[in-house]
Amino acid sequence: MTELLTETYRPVVGVLALQGGVVEHERVLDDLGVAHRKVRLPEHLDGLSAIILPGGESTTMSKLMRFNGLLEPLSDALRGGLPAFGTCAGMILLASTVLDTRDDAVRLGALDVTVRRNAFGRQVDSFETDLAFAGIDGPVPATFIRAPWVESVGEGVEVLATVPEGPAAGAIVAVRDGAVMATSFHPEVDGDVRVHRLFLRECAGLDVA
Ligand code: GLN
Repeated sequence: MTELLTETYRPVVGVLALQGGVVEHERVLDDLGVAHRKVRLPEHLDGLSAIILPGGESTTMSKLMRFNGLLEPLSDALRGGLPAFGTCAGMILLASTVLDTRDDAVRLGALDVTVRRNAFGRQVDSFETDLAFAGIDGPVPATFIRAPWVESVGEGVEVLATVPEGPAAGAIVAVRDGAVMATSFHPEVDGDVRVHRLFLRECAGLDVA
């Protein structure tokens, strides 16, 4: 019986698919051989091993999350320990405190950090760089698109990466708090699966090659 269960059990990772860069994350999960499901409605959360919150527009996603009745069930699932990975707007949604956003924007509070939305300002609002990333060997390519940064982290939150140089040098752009991880940038657009693999292995405890 145990054998049968291990043979047929296949973890499924959800991708919040209300708006934004969903397909890019799905492609990375395909590359890693991980089954996935779009999450648009509360029932799509059933049985997930982890969830990814993509980039896009956090205020729009906030509205759609409420409209679809997903806010409470998703908050509950996160409170219950569902591992989550947010990129860019996804990081904003997961944070406990968000600066420069709308009052009615969602703060899921799964990550004890203060995030500043659109933090890099007009001149450098989109850029690419290579980062050192804790837990990953070698430089990680990082694409920033009207990205937030993390202004401060709560106790127990690990800083995984900072901007190495330029006007925003030192800005915190990747964090982890237990089963929850977030990046200001978009690892899903660079053809590099290492950040997702780190999340799936370390935060979600999945056996990913
Ligand atoms: N600026 C967007 C927001 O506030 C985030 C940008 C992104 O996800 N690329 O939600």
